[in-house]
Amino acid sequence: MTAYCVKKALKVGETCMKKMLTAIWVISVIVFFIDWGIVGLSLLKGNYEIQVGVYVGIVCWVIVIVGGPIYKLLNCRCPYCGKIILQEGKYCPHCGKEIEK
Ligand SMILES: [Zn+2]
Repeated sequence: MTAYCVKKALKVGETCMKKMLTAIWVISVIVFFIDWGIVGLSLLKGNYEIQVGVYVGIVCWVIVIVGGPIYKLLNCRCPYCGKIILQEGKYCPHCGKEIEK
């Protein structure tokens, strides 16, 4: 019973983390576009003090690029043993069970 509770708690935690990561990713995409818009406008106005804007833009860009594969990785878990499956296939390489898609 305790093991079941722990497992359930872990699953809830994972779902929360996924939601949080998705939120961070979406925010990064939005900030990315707004930020580069601001940087572009500043340049058009002849304002070249855009260092902070560029840094923020780069950080968001990295999150957007890195976030995609990480999110995919989190969603590629075997429903039976919970291990991450990297290769495509019908069977889990860890426990050998068939995976429904
Ligand atoms: Zn498995």
